[in-house]
Amino acid sequence: MVDGMLGKLCRWLRMLGYDVVYLGRRGSDDDLIRLALEQSKTLLTRDFLLYRKALKMGVKAVYIDSGILEEQLKQVALNCGIKLSIPLDNSRCPICNHPLRMCLKEDVESKIPQKVAESSMIFWVCDGCGKVYWIGRHWRDIMAKLRRVQLEVEGKGKSYL
Ligand SMILES: [Zn+2]
Repeated sequence: MVDGMLGKLCRWLRMLGYDVVYLGRRGSDDDLIRLALEQSKTLLTRDFLLYRKALKMGVKAVYIDSGILEEQLKQVALNCGIKLSIPLDNSRCPICNHPLRMCLKEDVESKIPQKVAESSMIFWVCDGCGKVYWIGRHWRDIMAKLRRVQLEVEGKGKSYL
């Protein structure tokens, strides 16, 4: 569960296959804490007061102290042990959190640009919002970013020994 200031982190965690509820601006702190308790969710927040309050109420919470995505991913990896790789068969829609389904080019051909159909092999469709995803130009950037964070995490781990 992430607060309204962590929209980008939310989309990345969903790509990594995690079931993430985006809280936006709705509800009071108490409502959010109750929701986290009811659903046994970990709360990721940039709001220190909310973090303290959540901990006190027995919610597993992580205070995210950076506005930079890489730092945020690193913090979540260190605190929650998330895997920094995209599971091809178990990813989620960054927009609506619905699990993605791998599909054949023929299934999505009408929904994608011709160029993509010619150059891509792997496609996913979201049965929640209908969006189609594929391995495109940004894939390499995404992988490089995840690898950088992974190296940071491993470096951090070693310093504790
Ligand atoms: Zn979707």
